[in-house]
Order: sequence, then structure tokens, then C-alpha cells
Amino acid sequence: MPITEFDLINTFFTQQSVHRPDVALAIGDDCALTSVPHNKFLAITTDTMVENSHFYPNINPRDLGYKAIATNLSDLASMGAEPAWVSLALTLPKVNESWLQAFSQGMFKILNEYNVALIGGDTTSGAVPSITITAQGFCDKNTVLRRDQAKVGDWIYVSGTLGDGLAGFHLISDLYQSKKSAVNLDEEFLIQRNLHPIPRISLGLTLSRYQLSCCALDLSDGLVGDLGHILQHSGVSAVLNVDHLPCSRSLINLYGREQAELLALQGGEDYELCFTVPDHQKAFLERYLAPLNVPYTCIGRIVEKNPTENIIYQRQGKMVDLHISSFEHFK
Ligand code: ADP
Ligand code: MG
Repeated sequence: MPITEFDLINTFFTQQSVHRPDVALAIGDDCALTSVPHNKFLAITTDTMVENSHFYPNINPRDLGYKAIATNLSDLASMGAEPAWVSLALTLPKVNESWLQAFSQGMFKILNEYNVALIGGDTTSGAVPSITITAQGFCDKNTVLRRDQAKVGDWIYVSGTLGDGLAGFHLISDLYQSKKSAVNLDEEFLIQRNLHPIPRISLGLTLSRYQLSCCALDLSDGLVGDLGHILQHSGVSAVLNVDHLPCSRSLINLYGREQAELLALQGGEDYELCFTVPDHQKAFLERYLAPLNVPYTCIGRIVEKNPTENIIYQRQGKMVDLHISSFEHFK
């Protein structure tokens, strides 16, 4: 007997170990009922992943479940929000129970890790697999991180390493198209960086809580493009020291330092945070960020709006000419 929609929801999406006191009613009724702390904003974000646009059909469903959640939590992190709930709209051409099992396991692994509850969703059949997650969280009304808040003189920081997500995407793509059959350890590292981005929740919360920054975003489309959003919304320009860009050992092993820098600049899907820090807060960063164990690097500075160059690139303190645009894969 074919599995009904209700059995499917019950079997795969109601077995979560997270139970939050702010969820009065979760999956099962027409709506979920939740409550928001009275002194907080509710931060809400939605992202969709469509097969062949954002992932290949052969992706491990566990990885897909993880990544769909991670990318949404990353958006909450970039506002300095504490994640609370997600909902899932899932479209699949057919019901495949082992696929659903692995997908929900990947999803619950990261949801449980961040104490986030799945509170509802929608399950439909359609020609092309697609996953839409809406994530909601709480942020402090006075210290939320916004992309329009960069000020002249602020230092520009990024977390983690950059360029891995794009390099990982190229490798996944080559494997899928059989241009490549085996991967070495460095390549495997980059593929894992693409499939398992770490949402920088504790970093976003700490930047907001201690007012170390009031301006951040997450790097989903590449540093040049995403930093460009900060600059445009804040009405400023930036000087970037390309020789300060943090690149992983694996990226440098495979591409060399200069090529790795270009990947770091144009790369997408890193899901690291880019944030600006006023000069008077710079000295406090180490004290508050060290306990988090999240690497962070100063890569440049915000300057007065430059009418010709949005981003001025420097290497060893000297201006260099780089013609870079943000990379758009698939799409
Ligand atoms: P309705 O037709 O009233 O919208 P549905 O049959 O779509 O209800 O869903 C029944 C319940 O299951 C709802 O609470 C809905 O939020 C939840 N739900 C449906 N699909 C999913 C899913 N993929 N993940 C989590 N919850 C789901
Ligand atoms: Mg419905």
C-alpha cells in the first residue's frame, strides 16, 4: 500500500528530540503556535534549493538535509539572531522512504545541535525535487547586525577560510559529470566544506551581544559580491588586503596562493560571516571571540565612498588591479 502524506509526515518529520517551551503547538494542526520573547525582534528568512539549480540529483540526502538547514541558520547568524524554529516545504516527484529517512536524519542532526524545532511545513509532489526552509529566530532590538550599518574607519573581518565552498562546488561538479573519478584528501576537505557549512551562530550572537559590530552578512555569493552589498547599503567603499585573505591549507595546496586568493574573492557558498568593527571595539574582539574557537581575520577597512572603485585591492600595502566579479554557479 502506498504511504499516505500523513504517514509520511508522521514517520519522517515528527520524531524530533528538541522540545522548546516557546512552541505551544507544532506539527499536526493548520498552523504552529509559538511565542516570541517580548523584548526581541523575530528574524525570519527563507531559502529554496532546487535540484539541478542548487544541488545535483546524486547528492547524499543526508548532506542535503543538513545543508538546507545550515544555509538558513547562517542567515540568522548574520543578523546576530538566536535560531528557534524552522518549517520545511518539500516537493518530490515520488516517495522514496530511504531517501526521506536519510534527508530527515541530516536535517535533525543540525536542528538538534542548535536546539531548533521543526514546527511545520508542506509536502507536495512535483516534477523537480525542491526544498524550501523558513527559519525564525530572535534578535536583540538594539544590537541587531544589519548590512547598512558600516561606517568609515570600521575594520572589515571575515570568519573561517574563504574560497573552499566554490572549490568544493567545482569538484562536486567534475565528479558528477564524470570529469573526475577519485579525490585526494585536500579535495575531500573542500567537498566537505561545500556540503557541511557551519552556521556561525555563536559568532553572530557574540558580535551583537557585546556590540562589537553592528554590520554583518553571511558570504553565500562570494566576498566581492556580498561585501558589495554592505558597501552599497551603507554608502561607503572598502580597501581590501588580498594578501590577508584567509585560505585553507587544502585550497593553497591545490591552487597555489594567488589562485586561492581569487577563489576567496569571487567564491560562493562559504557561509562565513563578514562583519565590520569600529576602531574603538577592535581591542575587545580577542577577549570576546577567543572562547568561541571561531577563526577570524581582519582583511581591510571601510573608507569614504569612492566614485570609481567600490573595492580598492591592495597587496603588501600597494594597490593592485584585479578585475573580479562574484561568481554565480548554476543559476
Ligand atoms: P494543511 O492541509 O492543513 O495545510 P498539511 O496536510 O499540509 O495540512 O500538513 C499537516 C501538518 O503537517 C501541518 O501541521 C504541517 O505544518 C505539517 N507538515 C506538512 N508537511 C511537513 C513537512 N515536510 N515537514 C514538517 N511538517 C510538515
Ligand atoms: Mg498544507
